[in-house]
Amino acid sequence: RQGQNKFLLRDVMKEIELVSERIKKIKEVVNFSVAGSARRKKEVIGDVDFLVSIEDISNKYIVEKIMNTFVTMDNVVKVIGKGETKSSVKTSNNLNIDLRLVSNSSFGAALQYFTGSKDHNIALRRIAIKHGYKLNEYGLFKGEKKIAGQAEEDIYKKLGLQFIPPELRENQGEIDLAIKKEIPDLVDSVKGDLHCHTSYNGGEHTIEEMAEEAIKIGHSYLGITDHSKSLRIENGLDEKRLLEQRKEIDKLNKKYNNFRLLSGVEVDILKDGSLDISDDVLKVLDYVSISVHSGFKMTKENMTKRILKAMNNPYVKTLNHPTGMILGKREGYTVDMEAIIKKAKERNIALEINSYRYDLDSQLAKMAKNEGVKLVINSDAHNKRELHNIKFGIYIARRAGLTKEDIYEI
Ligand SMILES: [Zn+2]
Ligand SMILES: [Zn+2]
Repeated sequence: RQGQNKFLLRDVMKEIELVSERIKKIKEVVNFSVAGSARRKKEVIGDVDFLVSIEDISNKYIVEKIMNTFVTMDNVVKVIGKGETKSSVKTSNNLNIDLRLVSNSSFGAALQYFTGSKDHNIALRRIAIKHGYKLNEYGLFKGEKKIAGQAEEDIYKKLGLQFIPPELRENQGEIDLAIKKEIPDLVDSVKGDLHCHTSYNGGEHTIEEMAEEAIKIGHSYLGITDHSKSLRIENGLDEKRLLEQRKEIDKLNKKYNNFRLLSGVEVDILKDGSLDISDDVLKVLDYVSISVHSGFKMTKENMTKRILKAMNNPYVKTLNHPTGMILGKREGYTVDMEAIIKKAKERNIALEINSYRYDLDSQLAKMAKNEGVKLVINSDAHNKRELHNIKFGIYIARRAGLTKEDIYEI
């Protein structure tokens, strides 16, 4: 489609939830789901597709009621089309949302079809043909007879496949895994978060406020990793302030049950690959994470050398935002990720899936997993609201096919 806008899933998730709540409240709605790339949890999506099923699709009154509710939502600024089976609107965020209405008996087939991806569906239809079936958005058919269609699970089952979670439906090996019944048990939660910043870095919230929010989220630990001294614009911490912070964290920890603050740091990797906090202090912290925040214009060779050298420090546990980019905002540096992954394996260092930057995408995460490297899912929150972003990191991990065992946790 021409001139289509692109959105970070994170930026439109609230809107998706609001529309969902509104539609779900209509009492005649039997099944409801988001479909398309949003259901596959792609980091960047185009428009959003919703799928609704009702008992009797020929009941004009109910069809009209649902479509009217949809096109008159508060956030709608333009109705692009309104029909009996599909309506499209543009919202105040410039997001296009489609709603399709199907009968219950076809809901599963339609959900499968409209979730995609296109390549996954082509591969699936090919398997259907091999079995002598026909698969389309209305169902799975043997001749004229519909053998599945109401539930999405049944479509996969009848095709001899294990159910494939939407996040994996990109035709990148998931169908072979489903044939062999080897679809991984994807990670769906984390125990804690090992990357956030506090008022020590000039942020909005104190360590205590961040901890309280982490407890609300259900974390069992939160690692405090304020920036180190060379990041002056972030009010980076020197050795003395880090030790003071360590003391404050120890004190705070006395009042928590079933929750622990960890005293960490996000140490800058200097241009020569050394770290800007001395080992004497690094060794008294609970863990050490390292990051590149400067000198992005280095050659790939020099940047790789710089990071590899830093990874040799014995106290380092995680490498944050390994590619340096911020999706939609800033390009990263060039770096040999294969070499970084190899070193991570050798040094037992976890690579970060950063829920804010999206810099380590599902492809790179998968590459790391395949080499036996653990991934750590972090929010990189600079205030307590951003701690909630961690679910978007979990989505990346799921798209990479990661299981609980692939995740670095304390
Ligand atoms: Zn950073
Ligand atoms: Zn950070």
